Amino acid sequence: MNSIDPVQFRSNRFIETRRGWVIRTREQTDIGPYIDRESAESALHRYIASAPKRSPRPNTATVYYGIEIHDAVNCHKINCAICLEAQEAANEARSRILS
Ligand SMILES: [Zn+2]
Repeated sequence: MNSIDPVQFRSNRFIETRRGWVIRTREQTDIGPYIDRESAESALHRYIASAPKRSPRPNTATVYYGIEIHDAVNCHKINCAICLEAQEAANEARSRILS
């Protein structure tokens, strides 16, 4: 059996936003944006290689029926991919309404 890189195969770690590809982390800051997914994957591998080794932590995201619920009002992340994408979508909607 081949070993699987859990980082590379966690599809929800990489998010394509209107600003580019962002890597979601469990740390205080998400990483990115990058011009394409390959650049984001390379950046994640560099980040992991340079980060101090820690034991794995459970995913604490709130998930209902397979959909992650994100509380943007109480989110304290810096450069949060989900909050950035929501802000861009709100700006686009606002522009459409005003034009
Ligand atoms: Zn957030």
